[in-house]
Amino acid sequence: MTRNASKPSRTPTERVGISCPGCGRHDYVTWPGGQDTYHWKCFNCSKEFDLTRKRPH
Ligand SMILES: [Zn+2]
Repeated sequence: MTRNASKPSRTPTERVGISCPGCGRHDYVTWPGGQDTYHWKCFNCSKEFDLTRKRPH
């Protein structure tokens, strides 16, 4: 019943599990909702990638 003010509704984000194409490290990223790709820099191997969201189909 109470509105959660700390939860932003303007830009819904998703916690998505990814694995680094470079070093295979698994991580979770905050993926903006409605975005098919996510530019991500691996903190482990310092490479940058455009990750593609996994689709259910
Ligand atoms: Zn990496």
